[in-house]
Amino acid sequence: MAEYEQAYPEDVWRVREPVEVSYEPTAYVFELERCKRSPMLIFERLKGFDGPLVTNVFGSRERIARLLGTNLAQLHQTWAERTARLIPPTRVRTGPVQEVVLTGDQVDLRSLPIPKHFLDDAGSYISSGVCVARDPKTGRSNLSFARIQVKGSACAGLSLHSRGHLWDFFGRSERLGRSLELAVVVGAHPTVLLAAASRAPFGVDEYEIAGALQGQPVELVRGATVDVGVPANAELVIEGEIVAGAREPEGPFGEYTGYSTARSTENVFRLRAITQRPEPVYLDVTPGRSSEHLLMGRVYKEVTMLHRLRETLPNISAIHYPESGTHFHCYIALDKQMEGQPQQAANLLFGLDQYVKLVIIVDTDIDITNEAEVLWAVATRVQAKDDVFIVPRSVCNVLDPSSKDGLSSKMAIDATAPLTWDAVRHQLPSSVEQRVRSAVAASMTRLDG
Ligand code: MN
Repeated sequence: MAEYEQAYPEDVWRVREPVEVSYEPTAYVFELERCKRSPMLIFERLKGFDGPLVTNVFGSRERIARLLGTNLAQLHQTWAERTARLIPPTRVRTGPVQEVVLTGDQVDLRSLPIPKHFLDDAGSYISSGVCVARDPKTGRSNLSFARIQVKGSACAGLSLHSRGHLWDFFGRSERLGRSLELAVVVGAHPTVLLAAASRAPFGVDEYEIAGALQGQPVELVRGATVDVGVPANAELVIEGEIVAGAREPEGPFGEYTGYSTARSTENVFRLRAITQRPEPVYLDVTPGRSSEHLLMGRVYKEVTMLHRLRETLPNISAIHYPESGTHFHCYIALDKQMEGQPQQAANLLFGLDQYVKLVIIVDTDIDITNEAEVLWAVATRVQAKDDVFIVPRSVCNVLDPSSKDGLSSKMAIDATAPLTWDAVRHQLPSSVEQRVRSAVAASMTRLDG
């Protein structure tokens, strides 16, 4: 945080007035987004708690790129190159995260500044918790996110992504009559959170992805009360177990769709210990359809989908999931060689990503990260009768409130121009364009300063 703030002071906002933990940080994030801003936010003073609380760390693609030591233009390529060789974690004996170890009656979730984020949420939620567990059979660890509802000093409810890896670990453990040891890491190197948000294939230890992204092994210490490795430099770790045979109501909670949902696996998390730095920074991830919540797993998804689409259509140049579509819309840039390829691209993606409901395919002169340009292509290159097709009754994500019985229609819009096409885009001489671009960028920098 300190390094980032020093390098990019304009991209970090400090709120020095005391704020309520519940609602206020979340409201700041959404209000700033309304104003087209999404800085990292540090709330220095929290009413009733020791601060600080940090949120929106992952609220912009540009910041995610910078946190990885690259820039926006190189983000996808950098991610792909680094994760081509995974780097396993190393073990160390102790670390800052275990300078304070609280057990027994000292364990109190309510002493932490855990926000209630939205009006209809069932309570305070840990939204940033990286859940670390080990495969009961292979011992390999898995990192993932789950929403965690505070229910008591040493008790929480959690919902596991159904059919996710943690859900699978717990199911196999529970069938043997055993609870599953779990460590919830709050506040760690950004690569650990980005890795946890990546839906890596089964059997991949996400610590290896984090290591690959940061270019060196993640240092782990053994949990104080659970046999699970946790980052030695984390801010705090909540240790305990997902209880076998127990289910209790959990939710509702404001989800990525922008709607409150009570759908839950209703698991019970019983705490054993909290370990922490002496003065931990509490990290929050703004939930709901905040940019942060939508972007955390985005780079992984775009890199993976682009790679898989290109196995069939190497002339696909880029892929972008816009925040406006939550996880349901996707834009693809294609250097079309034959008519029908846009339709083929859409069909491929429908098969690969069940979340997707709308695919828009454009030519490579369109910047797919600019929604206004994508819609301009739709406006000027689409004849609905010929260029739109719908796939009915496909498997979808059930959190989509418009879906029925787990099924949804999928729509593709081919916004590429016909191969024989005589419309001419108005243009400027590229030398003039470049010169003016530099001049404007320089003026903007002066204005910002
Ligand atoms: Mn996994």
